[in-house]
Amino acid sequence: MDLLPIVTYPDPFLRRTMKAVEAIDDEVRAMCDRMVATMVEANGIGLAAAQVGWDARVAIVSDNGVPEDCFVLINPEIDETWGSEAMEEGCLSFPGVAAMITRPQGVRIRFTGLDGQDYVLEDDELLGRCCLHEIDHLDGVTFLRKMTPADKLANRRALKRLEERE
Ligand SMILES: [Zn+2]
Repeated sequence: MDLLPIVTYPDPFLRRTMKAVEAIDDEVRAMCDRMVATMVEANGIGLAAAQVGWDARVAIVSDNGVPEDCFVLINPEIDETWGSEAMEEGCLSFPGVAAMITRPQGVRIRFTGLDGQDYVLEDDELLGRCCLHEIDHLDGVTFLRKMTPADKLANRRALKRLEERE
């Protein structure tokens, strides 16, 4: 399977709002398969279409990185969130960067699956956190925007290295 190149910070594509998927056709299915393979190869547990340069509201989430356990979220919407929790996060678009990010503890989302059916997913552990991180990507928001000034400072070398690579 052809893996997709991962878009990294500070590429401006990461700040764009992605377009809703109108129809789940062969092209969409093929891209989703490639996204799952790309995420697993990179040892990630989440990957949004924005991160592979695809303008689509699609994200792959998983809490263990096993291909069979991945959820393909098409046009996901947050229904409800509750609680608040800080947890360390990384991002495939920010290699070498990690920070404690405060997010809701639990989330319920609605999404369309690859089979065209509508689903509800509710989780207050790693998978829910992953959904929140990836849905942010579809709105052009990266975890950099949610970092505390102290975390930005702690990651300044890794961020600078990425900025200089661009
Ligand atoms: Zn990310």
